[in-house]
Amino acid sequence: MGSLKIENVKKAFGPVEVLKGIDLQVNDGEFVVFVGPSGCGKSTLLRVIAGLEDSTSGRVLIDGADVSVTPPAKRGIAMVFQTYALYPHLTVKNNMALGLKQAGTPAAEIERRIKIASAMLSLEPYLERRPAELSGGQRQRVAIGRAVVREPKLFLFDEPLSNLDAALRVNTRLEIAQLHRRLKATMIYVTHDQVEAMTLADKIVVLNAGRIEQIGSPMELYNSPANEFVAGFIGSPK
Ligand code: ADP
Ligand code: MG
Repeated sequence: MGSLKIENVKKAFGPVEVLKGIDLQVNDGEFVVFVGPSGCGKSTLLRVIAGLEDSTSGRVLIDGADVSVTPPAKRGIAMVFQTYALYPHLTVKNNMALGLKQAGTPAAEIERRIKIASAMLSLEPYLERRPAELSGGQRQRVAIGRAVVREPKLFLFDEPLSNLDAALRVNTRLEIAQLHRRLKATMIYVTHDQVEAMTLADKIVVLNAGRIEQIGSPMELYNSPANEFVAGFIGSPK
């Protein structure tokens, strides 16, 4: 399970309306990419979905439960950030274990999950290192591993490749796609990069200035862009 329903979500910061009425349905197991120019509200929408930010109006339902009234530990969401957000003083292993320890997961179960996640993400050689002793790509894999061990039904990625160089971006993108195939979890992935959107998504949501311009598969958007903005952004002629 991991379906998401967003109903007429609006978000204002003071007088500035950043989300102007977002409606969206995400099915269990889908890989959905939010794409749009910098400042259009992608991160804000992701934070509202995660329950890190309250919407001004509207609702976010995960498997029918309103996120804003569900305690964080019960939401079944894990988020991966552009900046990794690892604890510098903890080893890779303890970065991955921390959230589970806090949730009272038994030690043997924590070991089991870290073993599986570190194998999936090729992190076994680095488990006793600290983040400063890792490359950017390795750090981002640790951040992804920390999300995986929580066994969320919904993964949220906010521009996870932005701080990596071109070669690592391709590798990490392929790893995320492989993770989706293995885990069959629902994933929402934010990017301003059209190539990432076209290669990863089952469904692309094109955002512009706080509104959805179009929702569709990569082929639908490419072949039948709804307007000039989508055509220009996705790169198809219209
Ligand atoms: P994106 O992720 O698409 O680049 P954001 O969601 O980060 O866009 O931001 C959308 C708009 O909302 C921007 O104009 C940004 O300055 C504004 N914004 C985001 N967070 C806040 C905040 N906490 N307070 C005030 N304005 C904010
Ligand atoms: Mg952003």
